[in-house]
Amino acid sequence: MSEKFNVPSELPRYPRSMWRTVTTLPTFPEMREDLKVDAAVIGAGIAGVTTAYLLSLEGYKVALVDAGQILDGTTGYTTAKISAQHGLIYSEFLTNFRPEIARSYYEANMEGLNFIRDMVQKHNIDCDFQEETAYLYTTQDDKLDDLRKEFEAYQELGIPGEWHDSLPIPVQAKGVISMPGQAQFNPLKYLKFLVEKIIENGGLIYENTTIEGAVYGKPIEAYTIDGEFRIYCNEMIVTTHYPFWNVPAGYFTRLSVERSYALAVKPETSFQGGMYLSIDDSKRSIRSATFEGEEVLIVGGENHPTGKDENTFDHYLALEKFAGETFGSREIPFRWSAQDITTLDKIPYIGPLSSDYPFTFIATGFNKWGMTNGTFAGLLIRDNVIRRSNPHMNTFNPGRFNDKSLGQTLVTGMKMAKEMITGKFGGADEKISNLEPDQGALVRHNGKKVGAYRDPKGELFLVDTTCTHMGCETAWNEAERSWDCPCHGSRFAYNGDVIEGPATDPLERIEE
Ligand SMILES: Cc1cc2nc3c(=O)[nH]c(=O)nc-3n(C[C@H](O)[C@H](O)[C@H](O)COP(=O)(O)OP(=O)(O)OC[C@H]3O[C@@H](n4cnc5c(N)ncnc54)[C@H](O)[C@@H]3O)c2cc1C
Repeated sequence: MSEKFNVPSELPRYPRSMWRTVTTLPTFPEMREDLKVDAAVIGAGIAGVTTAYLLSLEGYKVALVDAGQILDGTTGYTTAKISAQHGLIYSEFLTNFRPEIARSYYEANMEGLNFIRDMVQKHNIDCDFQEETAYLYTTQDDKLDDLRKEFEAYQELGIPGEWHDSLPIPVQAKGVISMPGQAQFNPLKYLKFLVEKIIENGGLIYENTTIEGAVYGKPIEAYTIDGEFRIYCNEMIVTTHYPFWNVPAGYFTRLSVERSYALAVKPETSFQGGMYLSIDDSKRSIRSATFEGEEVLIVGGENHPTGKDENTFDHYLALEKFAGETFGSREIPFRWSAQDITTLDKIPYIGPLSSDYPFTFIATGFNKWGMTNGTFAGLLIRDNVIRRSNPHMNTFNPGRFNDKSLGQTLVTGMKMAKEMITGKFGGADEKISNLEPDQGALVRHNGKKVGAYRDPKGELFLVDTTCTHMGCETAWNEAERSWDCPCHGSRFAYNGDVIEGPATDPLERIEE
């Protein structure tokens, strides 16, 4: 047991994604020359890989580049349910939009699911794809009305689903909605197949290649850090999770970022199948998978805004308690966490960056449902690029605006301003000399507040905690040993290196 974190021995000391551990992915070189292609796809998660694959099938010369390794963003750390059952989304959409929009969202997500299923069947992709019923449930009396309202929305929209009073698993639910014909898989094994096909179709893939900005013209020039190398392209597709190229359309006031947590647990009891999601105050997500020939349960939940939590380990502990009490826990081989992005109205932004930039497209804001939304993003962007109409274009158009979203934009902008100001005055109570090995904190150093981390060997790393994206103050994330920005979700390693954008420059290192 770790005294410092009070971590029970069952929890692994370091986070590690099960998908990334069990899947061997190909590696690609860094881009060290200028390129000329038809389409540049920036960011190799599920949205980027799917888009690049579909464009390469259309005969486009494609370059897919990633700042780190392919599929090492949120896609590598997902729980990988492939489902159109997204919490209480349909009743919320019916309150805010015309029914056609809510129905369009459902159909688009089912298109994403059906595309994956068809690909797996047609190409016999070995990715543990399994059809499952999805269950949405509550254990709280005070949430039952919300769940009933969601079921009414299914009926109004013609979404297949049934009401139940109990669950097949040992959780005492007060009400349940089932949605048949959903699925789960290992997303990296599936996407590895698409990556191989991109190469077969003549596409280029580069890793460790950060795109910092773009010059809009004919062609568009996407350039790497300090403008060292350029990709000249007719179409640029930004699938970097948080758009790296923010300025033209102000996405930083229209997106919010939340972290959530997952454990892979070897249960003591056998699992009855199905995929589960609660709408309780403490949300829980459950699905099964196989690890080393044994059944494991992936138990997830515990969302919170990125950079806004005192002790991130508590979230793992809460999931461990839930898994142990519900299924019994023999072993926990993996723990990991990741973050996802939500738009103002919870419908992703997929389409042209803005009317001023018709040959640049984005796909972001999947609201923790990127397996279907991200796959559909590939289909919709393909149609945008080849100028083919798609019935869902308006639903996902990033340029949509209504009174509600305008108000929210102002609120988000004000929150950011608050983070920028209050973050600067927050406490730095810890002394450098008190830092134990493998501990990080804000400290005072030469009269200034700085971020400090002492590694397990005792080496000290000091950084300026001001986020290099837009100047907000990052916070220490104890469970992942990173500096996380509460404004737009940029994350930095303890030595200041960028872990995830939108920031492209590291935190400034400070001499001891
Ligand atoms: C814990 C958790 C569980 C989830 N579970 C589910 C689930 O069960 N079902 C579901 O449907 N969805 C789920 N989601 C959501 C889903 O995983 C995400 O929506 C999806 O993976 C996002 O994919 P993406 O392609 O947009 O981004 P990413 O996978 O993050 O890919 C973006 C890529 O862009 C690269 N990049 C960033 N900036 C640059 C730059 N400047 N230049 C070059 N490259 C750059 C990054 O390195 C990264 O590889 C979950 C999310 C979380 C956090």
